[in-house]
Amino acid sequence: MNAFKKDAFHFLKYFSLNAVVFGFLAFVLWKTNGLGGSLSMNATVMLLIPVGLVTGLVSATAFHNASHGNIKPRRLNALIGELTASFSLEDLRCFRVGHMLHHIHTDDPELDPHPPKGLTFFGFIMSSRQKTIECISRLYYQAHGAGPAQRRNVLAQIILFHVAALAKVVFWFLLFGKTGFLFFFVPAYLAYFFGFAHLNYASHQDDEHGVAEVSNHDGTLFYRVMNFLTSGGYYHRNHHLAPGLYNPSKLSRAKAGV
Ligand SMILES: [Zn+2]
Ligand SMILES: [Zn+2]
Repeated sequence: MNAFKKDAFHFLKYFSLNAVVFGFLAFVLWKTNGLGGSLSMNATVMLLIPVGLVTGLVSATAFHNASHGNIKPRRLNALIGELTASFSLEDLRCFRVGHMLHHIHTDDPELDPHPPKGLTFFGFIMSSRQKTIECISRLYYQAHGAGPAQRRNVLAQIILFHVAALAKVVFWFLLFGKTGFLFFFVPAYLAYFFGFAHLNYASHQDDEHGVAEVSNHDGTLFYRVMNFLTSGGYYHRNHHLAPGLYNPSKLSRAKAGV
């Protein structure tokens, strides 16, 4: 957050580096392995789908925790965070800024990047990315001014973020090949995308008085399985109370206030 506020070109440099590194790696893979081999479809290949679903959730859990600096030893947060962020087609530093805004301004209709109040799950999914861009851009303009140069900078950041994401898609496609990409990477990405969207949506609903509250979820088969795969991810109220815990289900009942 500090580097983002101090250096007006922090994200521009970071997204450019991401795009160049993954573009270069994709180029090397293309030169050495070609264009991803042929597509196989058999019973063994189908087993890749559940492996991908599990990997996507475990990886995204590590990504979220790395953004909080929860991985021990601490120096691994940057390495694991960058790797798992890239697997989710995101960027660690950008995610960290947006996610800190979520923790600081939880359920604020303007300042929280993804408050679900009044939205269907589909509407929540469709609006969250644009809302996140708006919240981070607002913070950028507060720190660096909102003149034409800053607006051009933010536009360049948005373009470069998506160029980097595209470079990552190409990299994973060439790394896993057509079969691995379709039956492992795509399920992994969808598990991350919809799993964590649902986690946020379900955990930030209104109480009986219509006031937004952060809640924990467990007990049903779905939540048990999801909590197992996301290291207690659906203990989201606990996570807001103790963001430094990798597994928020481990928060003591006394500290959780129950
Ligand atoms: Zn939350
Ligand atoms: Zn968090």
